Amino acid sequence: MTDLTDLTITEALNGLKAKKFSATELTRAHIAQMDANRHLNAYITETPELALKQAAESDKRIAGGQMGKLEGIPLGIKDLYCTKGIQTTASSNILKGFVPRYESTVSQKLLDAGSVTLGKLSCDEFAMGSANTTSAFGNVISPWKRNNGDSRDLVPGGSSGGSSSAVSARMCMGATGTDTGGSIRQPAAFTGICGIKPTYGRCSRWGIVAFASSLDQAGPFARTVEDCALMLEVMSGHDAKDSTSAPLPVPDFSKALTGDMKGLKVGIPKEYRMEGTPDEILKSWDEGIRWLKDAGAEIVDVSLPHTQYALPAYYIIAPAECSSNLARYDGVRYGPRIEGQNLKDMYELTRAKGFGAEVKRRIMIGTYVLSAGYYDAYYIKAQKIRRLITNDFLEAYKKCDVLLTPATPSAAFAIGENEDDPVKMYLNDVFTVTVNLAGLPGMSVPCGLSADGLPLGLQIIGKPWDEATVLRTGHVIQKAANFVAKPQTIIKKAA
Ligand code: GLN
Repeated sequence: MTDLTDLTITEALNGLKAKKFSATELTRAHIAQMDANRHLNAYITETPELALKQAAESDKRIAGGQMGKLEGIPLGIKDLYCTKGIQTTASSNILKGFVPRYESTVSQKLLDAGSVTLGKLSCDEFAMGSANTTSAFGNVISPWKRNNGDSRDLVPGGSSGGSSSAVSARMCMGATGTDTGGSIRQPAAFTGICGIKPTYGRCSRWGIVAFASSLDQAGPFARTVEDCALMLEVMSGHDAKDSTSAPLPVPDFSKALTGDMKGLKVGIPKEYRMEGTPDEILKSWDEGIRWLKDAGAEIVDVSLPHTQYALPAYYIIAPAECSSNLARYDGVRYGPRIEGQNLKDMYELTRAKGFGAEVKRRIMIGTYVLSAGYYDAYYIKAQKIRRLITNDFLEAYKKCDVLLTPATPSAAFAIGENEDDPVKMYLNDVFTVTVNLAGLPGMSVPCGLSADGLPLGLQIIGKPWDEATVLRTGHVIQKAANFVAKPQTIIKKAA
């Protein structure tokens, strides 16, 4: 039998249906894989007993001919999603020991579709970061290594680095992520897997720990575009509990994967050809353009003139919203408390001890840009820029159906490499934050390897609510790229 952990979700569903193996066997294989690869530190909480119980229930349903859309598929859940009865930490000390009494809408939908929960995946603290080096539970490590003799551990990207590391190391078949400024697309690109952030409002945010509420979106990671389409179909849909979730029907995303680009115009934004972008990134972009053209697309040049203001605007709006959202962690309602002389003292001690350096930096920036004296100069200005960026996209979409850009300005870097300078770290998001500011769907699909043997990704950006075309385009890239490289350091263990 082929190694069960190497199957895609689609292949596993076929195998389960044909009774080639059981959901229990599939789950056991992934639990063994988690055991063998614990050095990657991808999971904060593992739930093997629960997983085996769910798998046994799946096997009963399969025997009864009742298969959900993700029946028996072992998944990992980013530790930002509240999971009933399972510790949920947002990778922060301030939430250690917090066990929600409710399940987030999106993770509930995944359970309702028959999936199996392997555990909770690490991320940057409160999803703030690009390298998964701000988690209170330690760094997450990528299963990839450079092939040039540099043996340093690499970052899996962030903030959903536990998700990307685990999917790429076959420690789950798919995983949930959240993307506020790139946290699904950048880690997917760094680890050679696929990830899609849908249109803002496509997935419910209810029960997901908030970072910046006007930017946060849930989305899936998987090893193929088909699997992402399937997971997104399950995760999407209106939810009365989230007033920003859209009352729109969920299209059959899997049907959108036609394998061609006939009748589609692909826009190439000239502002993304940024100075200092390495040649290999530009080359992979050119190659992607060629692939889409070969598949029948018409390529058009477009302009997104306010792109250069996106990062500064994002790093005002996101901290502003986080400073407000994180005010609730005060030692009273959730997590550990440090007693003080009085109430204010208790708040201060709890927050000083509970939050890490990056979270504190963002809260301070946020309260500063929202303060009476600076609100107009920073926050209002950033909101105006946000509108201009959105208008740029809407203007571009008069000329094309979808955009193609690089996903990241570089391949994965070593742990600690960008640590000295927060601004350098923030530059990672240069190609992704625009998409969140405009609320658009965006996907990263692996397209090849860097000179050092590390995965590179291409980003596909769609019109609002048009995930279908994004996935269709991603599918064409996947076929043309034929990305078959696997991370070098996965340890295999039989179940
Ligand atoms: N890296 C970005 C940040 O640190 C994006 C994070 C995210 O998308 N959650 O804000």
